Amino acid sequence: MGILGGNTIVCGGIYNTPDPERQKPQGIEDSVDLYVKQTLEGGDNLGNPELVQTLCSNAYDGLKWLEGMGMQFEDKIIQGAGSLYPRTHQSVDPLGTGFIDAYLKTLNERGDKCKILTDTKGEELILDGNKVVGIKATNKDGSELTLHADKGVILATGGFAGNVELREKYNTSGKWGSLGENVPTTNMPGVTGDGITIASKAGADLIDMDLIQLLYLSIPKNGGIAGLYDLGAENTVFINEEGNRFVREDGRRDVICKAILDQPEGLMYMIHSADVLPNIEEAKTLEGVPMTEILENNTYGWQTGETLDELAEKINVPAENLKAAIDNYNAGVDSGKDEFGRELLTKKFENGPWYALPRVPAVHHTMGGVRIDTDCHALNADGEIIEGLYAAGELTGGIHGGNRLGGNAVVDTVVFGRIAGTSAAKAEQ
Ligand SMILES: Cc1cc2nc3c(=O)[nH]c(=O)nc-3n(C[C@H](O)[C@H](O)[C@H](O)COP(=O)(O)OP(=O)(O)OC[C@H]3O[C@@H](n4cnc5c(N)ncnc54)[C@H](O)[C@@H]3O)c2cc1C
Repeated sequence: MGILGGNTIVCGGIYNTPDPERQKPQGIEDSVDLYVKQTLEGGDNLGNPELVQTLCSNAYDGLKWLEGMGMQFEDKIIQGAGSLYPRTHQSVDPLGTGFIDAYLKTLNERGDKCKILTDTKGEELILDGNKVVGIKATNKDGSELTLHADKGVILATGGFAGNVELREKYNTSGKWGSLGENVPTTNMPGVTGDGITIASKAGADLIDMDLIQLLYLSIPKNGGIAGLYDLGAENTVFINEEGNRFVREDGRRDVICKAILDQPEGLMYMIHSADVLPNIEEAKTLEGVPMTEILENNTYGWQTGETLDELAEKINVPAENLKAAIDNYNAGVDSGKDEFGRELLTKKFENGPWYALPRVPAVHHTMGGVRIDTDCHALNADGEIIEGLYAAGELTGGIHGGNRLGGNAVVDTVVFGRIAGTSAAKAEQ
């Protein structure tokens, strides 16, 4: 691509880690062990326990590392969409721009030790015997470029959720129907799983390729996640086009997506009230656009009403259903027992104005990819290290199992990106 950032720059900016400094004052008990347990169980115990342990025990150090480079996170801990526990940190800067700004600032400080090539496509690894010693690339004008690597090549080209051909090829788990071009994606256009194919051609083993994640927060038809007020599962109730609740909002991403796809139009509305959006004049979407502007223009289908009756009319759902859905949810907060099993019963929705945003599932994340060890060496089918080849981020497999927790993917890039860099730097020439 001609621009930097990949999916990281457009991500929702949520990052999970136990963090006693922020969690304790908010009465949240947490530990690395609990984080490991929830990450493994949330992925149906299909993740590699050693990789999950590495992910979770280095997440906090990764947060401090990011903060050390100038990235800022809110003090308030939330339970990010699909994260399954309140250990989510929200970036202060819009979307994932805080990560990329921090990295660029740091790289720029390294001056001539680092050269970034945009509009340059990695094509094929160069092997000397079994050792990876470089990569062939193509410039935008079609001319070829050879990059020699003294210590190794680190592949970090992301997943394949945006590559229709690859996701159709690997959509064999039976969890989803067709993932063809009619199903939108949240991904950036340049993230097409190239590194997975490149590594495979050099002998890397690919694992968990059939484990594909959909996310329920996309603009209908478009796939993007722009226009969200926040990613806290505590701040919303989901209803279908009949005005009824149908699923717990704090559950697993795959369960929520399947439930939405089972609704008449395969669509849901996220409902907010003044209880969770108290100061609309100051509020902004995740990408930093004032909510007043969004509401005035009904951008992305946002609607508002002083009362639930008014909102129901605007989004064309039966008002009695919508009111009953909210009443039942509030009764669940009082009794501590929600009809759909929601456990995040921290807030009642009682006061207008009310807000609604239509959203659909889209192909979001690929849990499979290059098999690695805890030093981020790429491994072959016999589990042996491919000398000179390292991999990190969404192009790797074996970490998130059958369902990646919301807020765990950027942790993956930070933790394993650092390890891959350290391993390659230590390697012999
Ligand atoms: C809309 C959205 C919201 C998300 N929100 C969150 C969130 O809030 N929290 C969270 O934990 N996760 C989130 N995720 C997931 C997370 O953002 C990604 O898993 C993560 O950013 C992947 O990082 P990466 O470094 O592996 O790859 P990317 O950030 O995708 O970067 C890959 C880079 O490689 C480049 N590239 C690809 N092929 C080639 C090639 N052949 N040659 C050269 N370069 C190439 C791409 O252009 C891109 O710059 C979100 C994802 C999306 C799409």
